[in-house]
Amino acid sequence: MAESYVINEWFYSLQGEGIRAGTANLFLRFSGCNETCKLETHGFDCDTEFVSGRRLSAEEILAELRETAPNCNWIILTGGEPALQIDDHLIAVLKGAGYNLAIETNGSIELPEGLDWITVSPKVAEHAVRQRTANEVKYVRGYGQGIPKSSVEAPYKLLSPASAGSEIDSRALAWCVQLVRENPEWRLSCQQHKYWNVR
Ligand code: SF4
Repeated sequence: MAESYVINEWFYSLQGEGIRAGTANLFLRFSGCNETCKLETHGFDCDTEFVSGRRLSAEEILAELRETAPNCNWIILTGGEPALQIDDHLIAVLKGAGYNLAIETNGSIELPEGLDWITVSPKVAEHAVRQRTANEVKYVRGYGQGIPKSSVEAPYKLLSPASAGSEIDSRALAWCVQLVRENPEWRLSCQQHKYWNVR
């Protein structure tokens, strides 16, 4: 199948993190990632299942999203690492249908044009970050990790406390609060969906 994409899942929920927190969005989760985030190397363990998936065309994705939430016009492209798969064709099909496109990426791959809201959450060394502009840049911080020296230019700089399973790690939270007090150009961004009991 030409121009098809391996999709882990899609669902309709509220964005729990970042500047757009609280807004309703369709989440389109792509399979596959080019990183392996682990406590020892990244300060947290990846808690996302991104191995399974179904191969769909752009038109099939559009039909599934329309059926899932006919009234919602925002899609969050996430993963895994969505930049491994998104391309001009998928963006054109979804934008042509009237959707606004947000993306959550680890920043290791430069993004195509046409996205409406870019969240870069670097999981690689700064010299390896390829997407260097964003609407917001977000770093997960475990207890004791310092303020990042970000290579990404973004109007909003966010610190997200590492999770302990489905819960926020209270030590990481207190640590991030302290970091923001000492560095007020940064903001706290918690995974509020975990408190709201939504996905
Ligand atoms: S970049 Fe994201 S999806 Fe990929 S391993 Fe790290 S936390 Fe998991």
